[in-house]
Amino acid sequence: MADQTTENAEKEGGCYCGAVRFRITSPPLVKGQCHCRACQHMAGGAPQFFLLVPPDGFAWTQGAPQTFTRPDLAEAVTRFFCPDCGTQLITKRRDNPAIVVKVGVLDDPSRFKPRVALCHAEALACHHVPEGIPVFDTLPGA
Ligand SMILES: [Zn+2]
Ligand SMILES: [Zn+2]
Repeated sequence: MADQTTENAEKEGGCYCGAVRFRITSPPLVKGQCHCRACQHMAGGAPQFFLLVPPDGFAWTQGAPQTFTRPDLAEAVTRFFCPDCGTQLITKRRDNPAIVVKVGVLDDPSRFKPRVALCHAEALACHHVPEGIPVFDTLPGA
């Protein structure tokens, strides 16, 4: 119970400038890291750390994100980002209603631990995978 503040901080987040904010009200379905080239574009070359959250467990609480979906890719995800500072907040896949929340935008991401590594075939030599977690070359099920 002493941890209540941290618990709440892990469930709320927002962009770098503070204009767009959200709250998570359900436990994540998956905690992971993705090594794909698209994630590298968004994360300065690093893997992206994410929580997969059920759609009814996520709500915007302030501001309105802008969205972008690549028109040239059939499988393109939709990226939601702050129109002011450009911070990427979540993505949605076409084939899955769950919300992919980026761990770096949580108010307190300090306790995050990835439980699975995805798209590892595209990983850079400098990427780190924690010992003992399952590693998939692609997206499982894809
Ligand atoms: Zn912003
Ligand atoms: Zn990825």
